[in-house]
This record gives sequence, C-alpha cells and structure tokens, in this order.
Amino acid sequence: MIVMKFGGTSVESASAIERVARIVRERIDRRPIVVVSAMGKTTNKLLAIAGAAISGTRSDFIAQIHDLRDFHSREARLVVPLAERAQLDRTLDEHFQELTELAKGLAVLGELTPRSIDTISSYGERLSSYIVSLAFGHFGMDSAHLDSRRVIVTDRRHTQAAPLYAETYARLAAVVPPLATHNTHKVLVMGGFIGSTEDGVTTTLGRGGSDFTASIVGAGLGAEEIQIWTDVDGMLTADPTILPGGHRVKIISFAEAAELAYFGAKVLHPATVIPAVEKNIPVLILNSRRPEVSGTRIVSEAVPCSNAVKSIACKRKITLVNIHSTRMLMAHGFLKRIFDVFERFETPVDMVATSEVSVSLTIDNAERLPGICDELRKFSEVAMEEAQAIVCLVGDNIRYTPGVAGRVFRALDSVNIRMISQGASLLNLSFVVAEADLKRAVQDLHAEFFAQLDPNVFERNGRADAAA
Ligand code: ASP
Ligand code: MG
Repeated sequence: MIVMKFGGTSVESASAIERVARIVRERIDRRPIVVVSAMGKTTNKLLAIAGAAISGTRSDFIAQIHDLRDFHSREARLVVPLAERAQLDRTLDEHFQELTELAKGLAVLGELTPRSIDTISSYGERLSSYIVSLAFGHFGMDSAHLDSRRVIVTDRRHTQAAPLYAETYARLAAVVPPLATHNTHKVLVMGGFIGSTEDGVTTTLGRGGSDFTASIVGAGLGAEEIQIWTDVDGMLTADPTILPGGHRVKIISFAEAAELAYFGAKVLHPATVIPAVEKNIPVLILNSRRPEVSGTRIVSEAVPCSNAVKSIACKRKITLVNIHSTRMLMAHGFLKRIFDVFERFETPVDMVATSEVSVSLTIDNAERLPGICDELRKFSEVAMEEAQAIVCLVGDNIRYTPGVAGRVFRALDSVNIRMISQGASLLNLSFVVAEADLKRAVQDLHAEFFAQLDPNVFERNGRADAAA
C-alpha cells in the first residue's frame, strides 16, 4: 500500500483532477490511499470569508461564499459522472448552507475564535476530497470517500493541533482496511489538514498540514511509501527563487530534508517527516505535471555521496542584532539576560555567535524588535542591521569532509560574511551575508560545490540555463 498526497495546485481544476486520476490509476496495483488538499486557494478564501463575516458587510461574505460554491460546482461537474450529479449538488448545497449559517453566526458574534477558524477552514478539504472521490469513479476507478475527521484524532490546540498518535493509529487500523478492501480494492480519498478532538470537535494541523496528514496515514497503516505530489520536480541543489537551474537531488536523508525544510525550502513541511521517520517509510517528492520525473526520495539513513553538500538553502529578510557590553568582561549571566528579553517578547532567535564582550544573533520576525532593543539597551549597546540573509549549506558529509569551510571562504572571497556558525547541527554550515550579496554568494558557492556531481545522488540539470 502507498499513500499519495496531492496539493492544492494539483487539484485546482477539473483538468488538474483528471491528471491526478491518471497518475493514481497508473499506480493502482500498489493499492493507493489518496490524501488531497483544498482546491487551489480555497483555504485562503475560506479565511477571507470568516474575516469578512466579522468585520465586513453581510453582502460581502455572502457574495464570496457564492463565488466559492460556483467554483467548486463548475469544476466538479466536469469530472463527476452524470449519475452522481444529483448527489453532488445535494452535498454541495448542504456544505455551503452550513458554511453560510456559520458565517452568519460569526457576523452576529463579531468574533473569530481559533475553534471557529478550524471549522470554517475545514470545508476546503471536506469538499475537495469528496469531489475527487466522485471524480475517480468517473475516470474508471473504484473509490470511496473517507472523512479524515473520523480517523485523525488531535489535541485541542485549534489551528495548530497535534495528532494523538495512539488513538489515530488505532482508528486508522479499524476504519481503513474494511473500507478499502470491501469486495475489490477501493481507492480511499481523504482530505489532508483536518482532524477532530476525541469528542469530535473539528481541528486543523496548521497551514500546509496536508503533507503531515499523508505522513500520519502512511505511518499508521505501515505504507511502503508516502508520495507527496506537488508542482516541482523535487528538491534542488539551490533555492530556485534565488538561483534558477539547480540540479535535482534524487535522494536525501530525513535529517537533511528537515534542515532544508526549516530553511524555507517550500517543498515540504518539516513536521511531515516525523511520523514517517519513526516507521522508516520513505517519502517521495514528485511533480504532478511531470510524473515521469523520479523526484526526490527521502530516506531514514544517511546516503553515501561524494559531494560534501547536498543543497544550498537561504532565508531572506533576516535582521542581525549585535549586542555589546564592556561590563560583560568576566561577568556571568549576560547571555541569560539577553535571551530573557527575547523570551519576554516571544521572538525566536535563529543563529547565535558570541565573543567575550559581544553577542551577535539573527531574528526572522522583527515585529517586536523596537521593544526588544529598548530592553537590551538598559544593559548593553545594541546595533542592528536589516536586509540580511542566512545561507545554509546542508549535507550529512559536511562533518566528515575536511576543508569545507576553507572552500566556502575561498568561493566567497569578494563577499562580506557577517556571521558564521557550524556545529549546532552537524549537517549544516550557516552564515549571514547582506541580502544585496545573496545571489552572488549562492552562485559562487553553487559553482564551487556542484561542479562535479555524484551521479547516484544528483540528476544534472540539462537545460541551457543550468546553474554552473
Ligand atoms: N489547505 C491547507 C492550506 O492551504 C492545507 C494544505 O494545503 O496542505 O494550508
Ligand atoms: Mg500545500
């Protein structure tokens, strides 16, 4: 059995759903279970409806609900068999009536709680999974719909709920096999992102949570493989928004993938891999527009590779904070005082470097920085620099390969490195450069570390625009 997950763009229209059906049908022998996101930008639209309900005029949110219904109805009718159209219309009516009632209720209350946000945003995946399950029938598959809220059991942290694994795995084991193996094998279609508490209140796993659902379902049912179908060819040797034309990474370890995900490689949510790692189930990243490409395979063990670096990740819009104290000399407790301030302002710190009299650190979210600086200035001198970027080289081999830092410094001899850190995680080497230098830095590093490629690990980009 395999789990196949399709994201919002992969199910954004009738033709996209048809493409999904073809991809699933070609893999029918592997007994797929399918997890889908909401169609296109539906989750954002639902959140906009909730926002309009509590603040706007009544005609606004009613019109938005109509638009969303029209969109779902129009695309669905193109892929649902004639015989099932009446049932489709009934189900759409039910869902959109409920949604309208909910929005009206919110308008009366004038308040949006995390719990009501979850209820509203759950409609995207409830609808998409239902529509895709009917569409599979139209495209010649035996399929059934499963409401994920029956099986994904979570805590009560609305909008950011965590799965209760034991209960979820027990329900998956009890519910899925009888549904999927009734007479012949049925392709079950379920929505990602949504779940419910033990008492049946709807929750969500956080934005982008459908990958996480796929991973939970795969782990719970002991899948051979979890396939995440997106609109990119897989993980690349460089962030394509900064340096287009990077090479495809064919195979990567879970630890490396998680590190890349943290650094903003939008391909995969970091939490996604956790349930899969525990059960040792490989996760594949595949492109639903180019299904012939073998994508990126994420595996639990480190992969032997003659390249020291697997990929270069970046994080832009970073603020560098330099804190200096002459009084710090021989004193203790200085670091604690600094981090207490960041704690009080609930601001995460990403990178840290210290010397005897100064501390440099980076933050991603500078919203509360003015208040933080005021507090820090009570016991130190503070200077900050905006428009910085973190560049992060990721690779299991970095720790075993002598001279990596030397190669970095040589490659970047014309770029000013503002801060550097290695060791926090053994598989990355991170440093800070001004955003203005970012593109050149990534280009130079890419040329240094990916001129030669281990053919077992990388697929060279054959296009003319391929990065050096
Ligand atoms: N539909 C949800 C979102 O837009 C979950 C997902 O797509 O993974 O965040
Ligand atoms: Mg997504």
